[in-house]
Amino acid sequence: MECKKSQNMNMCNCTYPCDKKGMCCECIAYHRKRGELPACYFTEAQEKTYDRSIEYFIQVNTR
Ligand code: SF4
Repeated sequence: MECKKSQNMNMCNCTYPCDKKGMCCECIAYHRKRGELPACYFTEAQEKTYDRSIEYFIQVNTR
């Protein structure tokens, strides 16, 4: 299967300096292992907090 990194980059809202940008398979695996969600689950402002925890996701979506 061909890597779609360049296409994925068009959808990536992550501002954290990270070498997984555009590689959604590695990105989700990394955050899943840590009990987190990737940047694209958060708004632009929320993403910039770099808090990728599920707790934070629930907090900002149940206000
Ligand atoms: S969401 Fe996490 S793993 Fe994905 S590019 Fe951003 S910092 Fe890297």
